[in-house]
Amino acid sequence: MNKALMAKLAWFLASNKDRPWTKCFLEKYCKFESFWSVSSKSNDSHKWKAILETRDILLRGSMFVAASGDTINFWTQPWIPWLDHHEFTELMQQIRLRRYTISTLADVSIDNEWNEGIIFQIFGEELGNRIIQIPRIPTPFSDQIYWKNSLTGQFSVKSAYFLDQSWRFAPPNKVWNWLWEGGIHPKTSIILWRLLNEAIPTKNRLPFVRDKDCILCDRGGECAIHLFRDCSFAKAVWFGSNLPLKIDCIPGGNMRTFVENLISSLPFQDRKELLNFIGCVFSEIWHQRNATWTRNLVANPTSAIINIMSAVREIKNALACSEGTIMELHQNHMSLKDDNLETSSPIEEVRHVLFTDASWIKGVAGIAAIGVERSTGRWFVKAQRSHSQSALEAELRAILLALNWAVEEGWKEVHILSDSLVAVTALSTQDRPPEWKSSTIYFSIVKLLKNFVVCKFFYINRSLNTVADGVAKGARVAYEQHILYQGEGIPPVIPIYFSA
Ligand SMILES: [Zn+2]
Repeated sequence: MNKALMAKLAWFLASNKDRPWTKCFLEKYCKFESFWSVSSKSNDSHKWKAILETRDILLRGSMFVAASGDTINFWTQPWIPWLDHHEFTELMQQIRLRRYTISTLADVSIDNEWNEGIIFQIFGEELGNRIIQIPRIPTPFSDQIYWKNSLTGQFSVKSAYFLDQSWRFAPPNKVWNWLWEGGIHPKTSIILWRLLNEAIPTKNRLPFVRDKDCILCDRGGECAIHLFRDCSFAKAVWFGSNLPLKIDCIPGGNMRTFVENLISSLPFQDRKELLNFIGCVFSEIWHQRNATWTRNLVANPTSAIINIMSAVREIKNALACSEGTIMELHQNHMSLKDDNLETSSPIEEVRHVLFTDASWIKGVAGIAAIGVERSTGRWFVKAQRSHSQSALEAELRAILLALNWAVEEGWKEVHILSDSLVAVTALSTQDRPPEWKSSTIYFSIVKLLKNFVVCKFFYINRSLNTVADGVAKGARVAYEQHILYQGEGIPPVIPIYFSA
């Protein structure tokens, strides 16, 4: 554990955390070279040497996102998000043979954007095209370091420990360690634990059942791996979920290796969130299978997907309001009282309220904002189709669309409503972007905020956001790229918090 703790100190240095001792160290040892490139000298203190030795753990677990890029070493600090550390190092070794004189990412940039000419020259067209899509952070913000294995991007001693010791945990046991971690809902732990032990009564395990065929597809015997991966029903459900997956491409001969492969094939997702999601998918498939078998109902992938989404949200809400404590899920957790993040100060009345939402599938997003003028009740719709790398990025883009619109119209006091709790929390605290992929959009939003006298963010339940949701879905598949019109008929529901 000691090495992991040292790695934490190194993380503070690398992420420029403002502590008196970090200043001391940096002034003493990093006057002429950066923390990443300085080498240890024989007369350095033991502590400093020990910290430097942990840099390899940090490099394996970190991702760098560039603003100007001048603090990110082009060759050694991982900045290509889809490569893991050894792939990144290999690629860089190949390129190095060609003797480029580049040292930092600033050398392949123009201001805070990629210098496309140089990027194509170094990486060729195909890889170059992907690289110029990597988000950059706008001025006046600085280069950022993210810890890949956490939802917040912040370093944790525990995950560094696992990364450093990962060779010790033989692969077959990996998943057992994951199941009972904090941040995983007890319901998820239990369903996964049963499934990974294959301790559920699928037909292949029931000697008294003679017909062993899968009741959902008739195209195979019913065993756990068929039911949850290979069955056409399972395939449809996974593919339609908010993490569109070709599930039958994930290898694994039993449930345990299947789940391990599934998780490791998605390196940039937060593992706990993913496990909670997988748990919801499994329990819904099992639920539909039981309904088909015992009540002769027809299993329906669309309703399964809707149920999964709402179960995932319930778990998120439950975990958000019970950090660290175990609690049962109740329907009323979905109620509005938890939704208002600002509980201490009364909410001032503002003239404009903007509902935002995004609909995201496979990189294409429909983003929508509904602006309501509270004095007249008039409302306006603005929507766009755009590209996003993640659902969260799409939600943030919708918020950015709303704010840009408000700036154009000269609205100075606004409330922004979104059903993305992660986006609302990140913007309310303005601590840091919720994930590296969307940092560009996040910082663009933060930059716009100075245009407002009042601009607050509120989380609302999805059921109150149906108008924006519908418009966003429409925009995703629409022929036109930009949509703007005045609404007619019943305006969007203004959530109860305004009358409180
Ligand atoms: Zn089947």
